[in-house]
Amino acid sequence: MRTFVYTSRPSRVVFGAGTVGRVAEEVERLGCSRVLLLAGPSLAGIAARVREVLGDLVVAEFDGAAMHTPVEVTARALDVLTEVSADVIVAVGGGSTTGLSKALAVRTDLPQVILPTTYAGSEVTPVLGETRDGRKTTRSSPAILPETVVYDVDLTLSLPLPLTVTSGINALAHAVEALYAPDADPVTDQQALDAIARIGRALPRLAADPADPEARSDLLYAAWLAGTCLATVGMGLHHKLCHTLGGSFGLPHAETHTVVLPHAMAYNAPAAPETMRRIAEALGVPDAPSGMYDLIVSLAGPTSLRDLGMAESDLARAADLAVATPYPNPRELTADGIAGLLAGAWRGSRPEGPPSTEAALARLTEEVVASFARTPDPRVRTLMSDLVRRLHAFVAANDVTDAEWQYAIDFLTRTGQICTPTRQEFVLLSDTLGISSAVDLLTNSRTPHTTPSAVLGPFYVAGPPETPLGSDISGGLHGTPLWVDVRVTDTDARPLKDAVVDVWQSNEDGFYDVQLPDLDGPVLRARLRSGGDGRITFWSILPAHYPIPADGPVGQMLDAVGRHPYRAPHLHFMFDAPGHRRLVTQLFVAGGAYLDSDTVFGVKDALVVGFTPQSGPTPDGRRVDGEWRRLDYTFRLAPLAG
Ligand code: NAD
Repeated sequence: MRTFVYTSRPSRVVFGAGTVGRVAEEVERLGCSRVLLLAGPSLAGIAARVREVLGDLVVAEFDGAAMHTPVEVTARALDVLTEVSADVIVAVGGGSTTGLSKALAVRTDLPQVILPTTYAGSEVTPVLGETRDGRKTTRSSPAILPETVVYDVDLTLSLPLPLTVTSGINALAHAVEALYAPDADPVTDQQALDAIARIGRALPRLAADPADPEARSDLLYAAWLAGTCLATVGMGLHHKLCHTLGGSFGLPHAETHTVVLPHAMAYNAPAAPETMRRIAEALGVPDAPSGMYDLIVSLAGPTSLRDLGMAESDLARAADLAVATPYPNPRELTADGIAGLLAGAWRGSRPEGPPSTEAALARLTEEVVASFARTPDPRVRTLMSDLVRRLHAFVAANDVTDAEWQYAIDFLTRTGQICTPTRQEFVLLSDTLGISSAVDLLTNSRTPHTTPSAVLGPFYVAGPPETPLGSDISGGLHGTPLWVDVRVTDTDARPLKDAVVDVWQSNEDGFYDVQLPDLDGPVLRARLRSGGDGRITFWSILPAHYPIPADGPVGQMLDAVGRHPYRAPHLHFMFDAPGHRRLVTQLFVAGGAYLDSDTVFGVKDALVVGFTPQSGPTPDGRRVDGEWRRLDYTFRLAPLAG
């Protein structure tokens, strides 16, 4: 059983995109009407947006905040605040602007509304670090804790990638140290682990696309969680070292956190193995300290104190300062140990993880991912990085052997070699693995009120012969005659004229014309054009169920997994209408075989329709002896976006 004390800090949090629009409301909610607006230097555009929302509530502005909150800057801002009798502070910017707001609040007891634009987390802590005569001191008080935090994801979109990375790692550091704090509690643990996992996922996505709104949102949410951890439990070696390096050697805040974190973790790892295991799990790496280092390298973040401008001759003094006053830390602080840690951080060496295949594999994966760093197209970079990560994870999780990998390469080689202009084995492979249907779902299911799409399949041949409405496309092949009478409309049921409609299907034995070399010309495939009433009519024959070509690698795969190769009977359609999105789909014969086990996973309920048995006179007077079938259907096409 765990015994703990948990104290929550009372702040109000408004989170979302565009929440800056609610800042005036939040000021009034505090009963205030005279705003001193603090805006980070170089954030003119963002400040203008806040000013616009606050309007007449703003009585003065100050944009001189500086890192580590120098007391001289606070004094100047305090003069402005006093002169205009402000009754609330609204601060928009990073940790430096928040620091100035806190310094003013602790001197005046005024309430604060903070709009963070970085991931520092200061906005939810009751802690203030200030510098006087080059020395940084820290104090804590309930008066320092901001009353309201408005997190607006939109305000973080402009944060340049290098700052995003270092600020994100700064947040990670709060979460990491919260997990081994002596006063840790289960609530904070969960917040810390959630923050670590989110940051570990969001940063690589932002490296590929810094404007990815979902990743930005995840990162800002994680920054709040991590800041809350920082506010709730005591920090250890890592924060003390960064405090010393920033306060006494003038090193930049977030960059210093980024360089030191893997080394501080490696130092503490032997004394906190369970914490490191949980961090490694949250990050999805085999070893937490070296995994953290690899993550930073893959994000092109800083890795050495030397590159941040620290002189090697200052290392000994930094080590002395760091061990001068004792504080809780999982591993005892020794002068030699800290000197070694700082020397490694100064050189930027990778902290050694336990020697293991997993660690070597993780290094290899990151090396390959890092090789995509200069890919000009961000989408290509995202896809390649994720593909490599997943393939490596697949190989590792299944302990794939040499022979198995050789077989896989041989399988893909044969899949390519069997392809011809009329046989597409790769499409078959994609279809039978359900990937074509998955991509189709993602691409097309986002359009409501339209006819569902279905996969193109391997038998489409571009540019079929244009055929008049009412023609017979069966080329005289034997089968149950089928009269097709379908309509093409928009989503408001208005008929679409001049829609180009390609149709194709198998014969009675389940073969397409391209599979029958003796057949002359395109048969059971045609291009028709809708008339003014949006109608398409033609004669064909009832399609049959059929096996996909099973004499190649895909057939072997189906055999190996005990699956049949059959497709449910269907008729293919492709629609191109001016001003509308292309629709590729299939209509399945209700009651046909294999509807519930179609080998390419193409059947959707809305596409299973009656090919209704008929007898007697036909719609166009054509003479048919015996049974014929009739297909009536209305296709609804989505308008082109924009
Ligand atoms: P910062 O506030 O100094 O900002 C870094 C740079 O980023 C600045 O140049 C700023 O103008 C720019 N910037 C910020 N947001 C931007 C945006 N959206 N778009 C473009 N540029 C943007 O740096 P920081 O890392 O956020 O904060 C560091 C300070 O915060 C340090 O003084 C540190 O001690 C303090 N801090 C305090 C606590 C606490 O709990 N007391 C916690 C974390 C950090």
